[in-house]
Amino acid sequence: MVQAWAAMAPGQTLERYEYEAGPIGSDDVEVEVETCGICHSDLSVVNNEWGISTFPAVPGHEIIGRIVAAGPHAKGVSVGQRVGIGWSAESCMHCPQCLAGDGNLCAENVATIVGHYGGFADRVRANWQWVIPLPDGLDARDAGPLLCGGTTVFAPFHEYGISPIQRVGVVGIGGLGHLGLKFARAWGCEVTAFTSTDAKADEARGFGAHHVVNSRDRDALRALAGSLDLLLVTVNVPLDWPAMVGMLAPRGRMHIVGAVLKPIPVLAMDLITGQRSISGSPTAGPTVMAKMLEFSARHGILPQTEHFAMDQVNDALEHLKSGNARYRIVLDA
Ligand code: NAP
Ligand code: ZN
Repeated sequence: MVQAWAAMAPGQTLERYEYEAGPIGSDDVEVEVETCGICHSDLSVVNNEWGISTFPAVPGHEIIGRIVAAGPHAKGVSVGQRVGIGWSAESCMHCPQCLAGDGNLCAENVATIVGHYGGFADRVRANWQWVIPLPDGLDARDAGPLLCGGTTVFAPFHEYGISPIQRVGVVGIGGLGHLGLKFARAWGCEVTAFTSTDAKADEARGFGAHHVVNSRDRDALRALAGSLDLLLVTVNVPLDWPAMVGMLAPRGRMHIVGAVLKPIPVLAMDLITGQRSISGSPTAGPTVMAKMLEFSARHGILPQTEHFAMDQVNDALEHLKSGNARYRIVLDA
């Protein structure tokens, strides 16, 4: 039996939950969980904010652990190996997206915590493609948040060929945002942090920001008009969107990874003038995840974490909800 923590209905505190995982699937890998980060998406799924949750919901999709079992068709993995699992646990493996390495865009993609039991547990399963070996040199205790938070903010640099002479802004310095600052700095860019919490300014500089601006300060945003090549939005709340789009340089892109629930209004002319774009993306495919881990190991990129024991998971979720997490909570199994 797998010992897990689950929300039995939307918005409920997590309780101990035992389930029988059954025989291992031929392409599946079973991992004994060592640590699991808490992403804001875990909270959103517990609260069914996106209307896609399934209950009982076992959250946890920033998993680090060791492989304890593998199905007969699981490739490139071995029992005892230390690995990570992120947002995706399965994809069809034969559609054009999967074959191109973009299984995160597969129509049959199964999220680790939706219709599938996640990593707030002693064990978790995923398809071998989504079980990413952890490179040497990455501290396993803190690497978990790279698997979702890290991969999500790394992917746009890779996808859009961001170059070191470009200027990058990151809005929202939380779990994703602080890693976004670290990647942007290691990528060689000029980096601006946009935070609504002035007390984060010094730490944001420590993560790599050359400049720190209050994300709610209209005048400060307007003073940066036309200056940013990439503006990575990690918040899940409405912002001053015209001011945000206004900060984009010609050919600049506002890339949204935060799950903002309200529509984002934009004037066609603000896109046409300067040929600007707005885009979004869901985490990344397994190859990009592996590249992100390799890049992180090379540049010494890890999240700044606060650790809680797994059985303090409800306190940890409250801490995230309060906005006081600095900057990613990790549960120790
Ligand atoms: P988080 O740690 O809670 O960080 C969110 C940050 O947003 C906060 O630290 C805060 O930064 C800012 N913020 C919060 N409330 C605000 C407000 N009222 N006004 C202005 N700024 C505010 O969350 P996270 O784990 O980084 O996740 C961020 C979002 O990304 C969530 O919606 C999550 O579901 C989503 N997500 C998406 C993907 C994807 O694949 N696209 C993957 C993972 C997560 P400041 O204090 O600096 O303002
Ligand atoms: Zn996540």
